[in-house]
Amino acid sequence: MQSATHSRPNADEILANLPRRSGVVPMFIGGEWTLAADGVTRDLINPSNGRVVAAVAEAGAADAERAIDAARAAFDDGPWSGTSAADRAALLFKVADAVDRHRDEFMRIDTLNGGKPLRETEYDAVDAANCFRYYAGLATKPHGQTFDVPAPSQTFTVREPIGVCGQIIPWNYPLLMAVWKLAPALAAGNVCVLKPSELTPLSAIRLAAIFEELEFPPGVLNVVTGPGATAGNAIAASTRVDKVAFTGGTKTGRSIMQAATSNLKKISLELGGKSPNVVFADADFDTAVDYALFGIFANAGQVCSAGSRLIVERALHDRFLGRLAERARKIRVGDGFDPQTEMGPIISPVHRERVEGYIAAGKSEGAELVCGGERLGGELADGNFIAPTIFDRTSRDMRIVQEEIFGPVLVVQTFDDEAEAIRLANDTIYGLAGAVFTEDVAKAHRVIRKMRAGITWINTYHPTYNEAPWGGYKQSGIGRELGTYGYDAYTEVKQINVNLDVAPSGWFSD
Ligand code: NDP
Repeated sequence: MQSATHSRPNADEILANLPRRSGVVPMFIGGEWTLAADGVTRDLINPSNGRVVAAVAEAGAADAERAIDAARAAFDDGPWSGTSAADRAALLFKVADAVDRHRDEFMRIDTLNGGKPLRETEYDAVDAANCFRYYAGLATKPHGQTFDVPAPSQTFTVREPIGVCGQIIPWNYPLLMAVWKLAPALAAGNVCVLKPSELTPLSAIRLAAIFEELEFPPGVLNVVTGPGATAGNAIAASTRVDKVAFTGGTKTGRSIMQAATSNLKKISLELGGKSPNVVFADADFDTAVDYALFGIFANAGQVCSAGSRLIVERALHDRFLGRLAERARKIRVGDGFDPQTEMGPIISPVHRERVEGYIAAGKSEGAELVCGGERLGGELADGNFIAPTIFDRTSRDMRIVQEEIFGPVLVVQTFDDEAEAIRLANDTIYGLAGAVFTEDVAKAHRVIRKMRAGITWINTYHPTYNEAPWGGYKQSGIGRELGTYGYDAYTEVKQINVNLDVAPSGWFSD
């Protein structure tokens, strides 16, 4: 299961293009590279081997306030919101090209900082450039409507930027989550204060350096590297921030929503999931097994939309589980820089312990451990590696069935008929994603339409498109990112009425 040895990555070489101040990777505020006001720094750790990668400025609330000041000035007094859509698009196309030009560097930064295998960070970097390109294109497309109202009025709408957007993102897709938020916001004429996860800020800093090279006006993009409890909360609570967009855990989403009440700022929340993957006995066997593996073990299960509950028809159960476990045991787990690696580490020791806690809970609650369930040692002992894990014979009241584990842990549930499959699929507080595998087209559509989830797949798992909306039902979030929905979420709609018969109304007597 463990991968072979490979040459050790050279962190200095990979991070050579990152700015430094006194040896520390700084933040980007108001077009300047700056350290935290109180001088605090944080060592970033490679989760594959526990080694320090770099020291980064650790923002506090005061630094977040500085970034909000810079963004406020850029929006209220700067040129950005008044630029033409064509000019914004031209710059964003240049960002896309620069991300493509530096693809290898972005891949290696995220693999070094977050442990993801290169095959995953390559996908992220390609998709990030395409996301900028998609929104650059969308900026110049029609966004308003006209309305056939009674004469003498001509009524139409325009979409305008919301203003200063606070954007708080997690560590599982450091570059891609930043881009999903920045690209639509900037295309629509907003300015941004981005707070990456304190664990994985480096690719966002590299992106900011590209913005500097391309001479974006100061304050249009600000990157604040610091913890959520201080820097993140200051952004969510600020009365000078007009919108907060958040991706992360449901519990954090709740506290961000509360903080946002300070000025009733607009909110978008992309939260957690416990997504069902329903497999009927008539499914194409090899395809369903393959996507069941990909659904849960891609990015070591640290994916909001992971197919973490396999709901399989009883008639297929034994054969399916046998093959699934056989393949799970063969997954090559290891350092993301090893080209043979198929699954990387858990992001941090804290999160690894959290995942291990769920594995212990599964065992003590009586689920049957089919494979995995242990931390990997040997040459992987210094990293946070957990073997691909499958629990069978679960019941709906178990914590491992109801709660998001966010790790390489699959739970298996069994059903006898279509109604039971649907009932099980919808039986959590979450509603982010879900899939169904069957050769019966009508059945696939019936089940998908009953699934209470925002992102669904038939006979596949995980494909994600910049063109299509992304977001959840129930406690998986509020609003949608990507596609035209993602653009609209960064705009206010203004109604404009023009009187075509300019004369007094005569309502009051003269
Ligand atoms: P968290 O919710 O802990 O953190 C996400 C971000 O929020 C981080 O930048 C974090 O800062 C920040 N944050 C934490 N507390 C606060 C606060 N009180 N106020 C403001 N910001 C705060 O999630 P994780 O980083 O642990 O990511 C994993 C979670 O994210 C999973 O539950 C997963 O489901 C969800 N997720 C959802 C996605 C979706 O599209 N729906 C996509 C990816 C992940 P810091 O960490 O620096 O302290």
